[in-house]
Amino acid sequence: MKASTGSSSPPRQPAATFDANLVDDLVAANRILFDQGVVDGFGHVSARSDHNRARFLLSRSMAPGLVKPDDIMEFDEDAQPVEPRERAVYLERFIHSEIYKARPDVNAVVHSHSPAVIPFGVTNVLLRPLFHIAGFLGQGAPVFEIRDVAGTATDLLIRDAALGASLATTLADRPVALMRGHGSVAVGISLQQAVFRAIYTEINARLQSEAMRLGIVNFLTPEEAARAASTNDAVLARPWDLWKRKAMQNAGA
Ligand code: MN
Repeated sequence: MKASTGSSSPPRQPAATFDANLVDDLVAANRILFDQGVVDGFGHVSARSDHNRARFLLSRSMAPGLVKPDDIMEFDEDAQPVEPRERAVYLERFIHSEIYKARPDVNAVVHSHSPAVIPFGVTNVLLRPLFHIAGFLGQGAPVFEIRDVAGTATDLLIRDAALGASLATTLADRPVALMRGHGSVAVGISLQQAVFRAIYTEINARLQSEAMRLGIVNFLTPEEAARAASTNDAVLARPWDLWKRKAMQNAGA
């Protein structure tokens, strides 16, 4: 564990301006996404601040499975930390700042490199819902091509606000966008919804690859997908409670 509090730091973190429940939910989201195999040593999840909608909460730069409440930091609309206190921050925090700017409906963002999704970012096969739990994918998942916007070879990372804004443009009004050769983003009106979408994007991708090996796939129609998504959105707390209990037990926290 890193000693993040120097002798001159306040005795209690995070700052009192944070909503304790939101911090706890964000810690749980980090642990759940690790426990469910969506993030590993990399990837991150954020929540829009409920005190200042231009800001968001995100862990300091660390493995999501190890995040604790004291690791949660506040960032402004330019993805700069409000109270840096010499803590390292994620290079790709611009994914979050630019999506919150572009999408007033979004209150949580997950970025991951979850493995089953990767093939759909590097082939011409559209990720589509083939079971009801993934109905939110009904419009398909657009693919962000960093070569189209960077103007030079990159390391694939969203390192600045311009790249983040381009990714947000690709995402448009969808719940999920893929990032070619890199990973994906899933967004939601809440942490529960964004985490649900990130987990079932990975599962749908795995199932779709399996189904396509078997034969012609009978996907959900757009109307079936929309109806299923609406049904699922009414029961997000059920899987969340289960995932949270398991993740926190496994973490020994
Ligand atoms: Mn990444």
